[in-house]
Amino acid sequence: MNKLTVAKFGGTSVADFSAMSRCADIICHDQSIRVVAVSAQSGITNILVRLTQADVSDAERLDLFKQIRDKEQAILSDLNNPESIQVALEHLLVSLEKTANEADIATSERLKDRLLSFGEQMSSLMFAEVLRQRDVHAVNFDIRQIMKTDSAFGHAEPNIELIKQQAQTSMMPELAGSVVVTQGFIGSNDQGETTTLGRGGSDYSAALIAEALEADVLQIWTDVIGIFTTDPRLTQAARPIPEISFDEAAEMATFGAKILHPATLIPAMRRDIRVFVGSSRAPNEGGTWVVNKAKTKPAYRAIALRKDQILLTVKSPQMLHATGFLAKVFGILAEHKISVDLVTTSEISIAVTLDNPSNTTTKAISDAALTALKAFCDVKVEDNLSLVAVIGNHLESSLRENQLWKALEKVNVRMICQGASPHNLCFLTPTAAAPSVVEQLHNALFD
Ligand code: ASP
Ligand code: MG
Repeated sequence: MNKLTVAKFGGTSVADFSAMSRCADIICHDQSIRVVAVSAQSGITNILVRLTQADVSDAERLDLFKQIRDKEQAILSDLNNPESIQVALEHLLVSLEKTANEADIATSERLKDRLLSFGEQMSSLMFAEVLRQRDVHAVNFDIRQIMKTDSAFGHAEPNIELIKQQAQTSMMPELAGSVVVTQGFIGSNDQGETTTLGRGGSDYSAALIAEALEADVLQIWTDVIGIFTTDPRLTQAARPIPEISFDEAAEMATFGAKILHPATLIPAMRRDIRVFVGSSRAPNEGGTWVVNKAKTKPAYRAIALRKDQILLTVKSPQMLHATGFLAKVFGILAEHKISVDLVTTSEISIAVTLDNPSNTTTKAISDAALTALKAFCDVKVEDNLSLVAVIGNHLESSLRENQLWKALEKVNVRMICQGASPHNLCFLTPTAAAPSVVEQLHNALFD
């Protein structure tokens, strides 16, 4: 069988007609790309999130509607206003506005996901037409037919088996004669209601599709030429990494390298699908290959920074040598679906970090979870913290290496985790200091 590539284009790659045209060039040059998953145009999901917030005035709401309409109309007019697309777009815009105007938009997670889904829906509608106008036989495929999830609106969990079945029966046959254009980020539950996989989830969607179709390659097209040793905005010394292992890249994604959604590599690892990350603005400048076994295994590969961290410390008042405290605390966190990243413990207390991004519709820790914890222990919540992760190989034995500790000498470290994974050493530091900490570390480790 011919090689099959699933390509995902992020928000900046499909930001407007000319950006979409660059993506179309990439597709036209690579016959193996049969499935294309797109994000919403950049900025659109943020506008939709804003529309879900309780303090939006009527005037602001109208202005936000206009911003969305203007963006979409501009693309439509560059496409010379094909009537069928115009009608389909109008239909989406009317439903979008109707959803945003619902009385309980600020409180219903179900409605929020329905609203957020319009960004991707509009984007795939337009993008399929861009391809068609280049004589590519493109179909706009509603991914909700196959991306089956649970009902955890805002951060829905995909049902891998069901997705596979559905993809094989309803998407696979389309691939024979068409390029299938579809939406990242969105899915549907058993009742057919729209769900989303969480902010930045389009990468994950594309990986799930690649897995379900047993693709050979997953391409993630974004606005940077691959994965860098650290965020280039933090230091000019950052440089692209040509090849990296799944393990290292997964740690990077988990610990804040914005370039990939943290879950993206899991489906790719399950089926050993090679992942390419590149820039749709500069497709010829190369990018990063994420593979099962990388040719090199340097001690220090990259430094990731993740802002908006909460440190939750729970302390048991009574329990020297008592058992079950950890189990109880993690039981409550699990019950409330709270995902923790770093963990440190002492005899009577546990500290965990929680990701608390400002651009989502969900909270890092719900009041209900806090109440449940407070019922049997003291709880302290600290914020304005950032997580810095040094990613590499054999880091469980880096204690012997002076270089790293020297670099950390003057850093205000609030918490540190080392030893569980050979691929990372992580610490928390105040957010205000974090960018310069990363720059210093990069100088010390990557010179
Ligand atoms: N549009 C969604 C977001 O902005 C999903 C994505 O782009 O990956 O989070
Ligand atoms: Mg993204």
